[in-house]
Amino acid sequence: MAPPASAEGCGIDAPIRLSSIIADGGAVSLPDRPLIACEFAAVLADYVRLVVAPLGQATLHAKVAAIETGPGYDCRTQDRVAGAKISAHAKGLAVDFMAITLADKRRILVDRQTGADEASYFRAIRTAACGWFTTVLGPGADAFHANNMHLDIEQHGSSVSYRICQ
Ligand SMILES: [Zn+2]
Repeated sequence: MAPPASAEGCGIDAPIRLSSIIADGGAVSLPDRPLIACEFAAVLADYVRLVVAPLGQATLHAKVAAIETGPGYDCRTQDRVAGAKISAHAKGLAVDFMAITLADKRRILVDRQTGADEASYFRAIRTAACGWFTTVLGPGADAFHANNMHLDIEQHGSSVSYRICQ
C-alpha cells in the first residue's frame, strides 16, 4: 500500500516492499522488508546481487543470508529539522544498512567489524556503493546514521553524476 502523500512532499509513486533479493547461490533476505520506490529497489537489488553477495562469498567464504536495512520509507526532513530539505527516506529512495548476516550465522555490524577480513569486506562494499548510489553516508554521519550506512539515489542539484560519498 502506498504511503499517503503529505503536505511536506513525502510519498512514493511506485512503492514496493522488498523482502528478498535473488543472488547467486540463493535469496538474500531483507527481514526489515523496507518500503521503497520501485526504481530504488532495482538499484539496491543490483548492488546486492553484483557486489554485496559475491564479495561476501569471496572474502568471507560464506553466503550472504540477510541484510538489515531499516524501514526505508520515513516521512521526515533531513535530521528532522523543521523546514529543512525533505529526506530521501521520505521519497522511498533510501535505506540504512545496519548489519549483514552470513549463512554460517556470523553477523557483521556496519559500525563494528570483528577481524580484518570482515573489516576489509565492509570497506570494499562501502567503496563500491559509491558507484551505485548518489549518496553513501556513515556510519557516524549524523544522529540518524550513527550505527548504519545510508544509501540513496536522490539526485543532487542538476547533476546526475554528482556523488556524496563520505
Ligand atoms: Zn538514511
